[in-house]
Amino acid sequence: MTRKPLIAGNWKMNLNHLEAIAHVQRLAFSLKEEDFEEVDVLVLPPFTDMRSVQTLIDADRLRIAFGAQDLSDKDNGAYTGQISGVFLSKLGCKYALTGHSERRGINAESSELVMQKTKAALRNNITPIVCVGEPSDIRKNGNHVTYTLDQLEQSLSDLTKEMIKDIAIAYEPVWAIGTGEIATPQDAEQMALEIRNWLVDRTSLTIAQGMRILYGGSVKSSTAAGIMAMPNIDGLLVGGASIDPDEFVGICRYRLAGV
Ligand code: PEP
Repeated sequence: MTRKPLIAGNWKMNLNHLEAIAHVQRLAFSLKEEDFEEVDVLVLPPFTDMRSVQTLIDADRLRIAFGAQDLSDKDNGAYTGQISGVFLSKLGCKYALTGHSERRGINAESSELVMQKTKAALRNNITPIVCVGEPSDIRKNGNHVTYTLDQLEQSLSDLTKEMIKDIAIAYEPVWAIGTGEIATPQDAEQMALEIRNWLVDRTSLTIAQGMRILYGGSVKSSTAAGIMAMPNIDGLLVGGASIDPDEFVGICRYRLAGV
């Protein structure tokens, strides 16, 4: 079963819409057809950048996809400040993060809300990238597998097998996000395998083998190849390094770096 790797850049609250255009132009200039044959490339800009990014991608027929860092669990109505999956889908948005640890933490999002947002993405034909992962105290006391699988169970509890088939999962240990402290390839693989086995039990072997599991947490161009060499890791969710175009291109080209 081959799973085409997905390299996703989460810009977080960085790059205004003019900087976003320049950034995507740099990516488009540097990345070649052979890169897009090997990996799917995704950028996750702030909402205010999205229309500019979409216009550029469409006008120049770029093979770069764009997605949202979050979305509302509701489709429309009196929800001041929220962004609907209906609108995102209409714009051509192909992916949305749900349950990023910064939203679970700073915005106090529960796994129940993450599940509702995941369902909102799916009903609008947007692929949710559901983020899970343990904080450092849980890693230190050795309960990281149980913690992460519980979070996954709670974040997907209402979803049918057919719905789960259409999501991607990002394992993002909280202690590695934005800290410069990356999981070892072996630690990342251990959790990805646990997640894959959980998916086999929850869906089927065929569905689980077709699903993408990403790693995220302080990935750089110098560390991407080691993580991507692991058999159960099918992509990277990149934060800080994704706003440096040369770094991000280097990550997309991990296959040329050697382990
Ligand atoms: C992220 O925000 O999802 C992330 C992995 O950030 P960083 O690469 O900066 O650790």
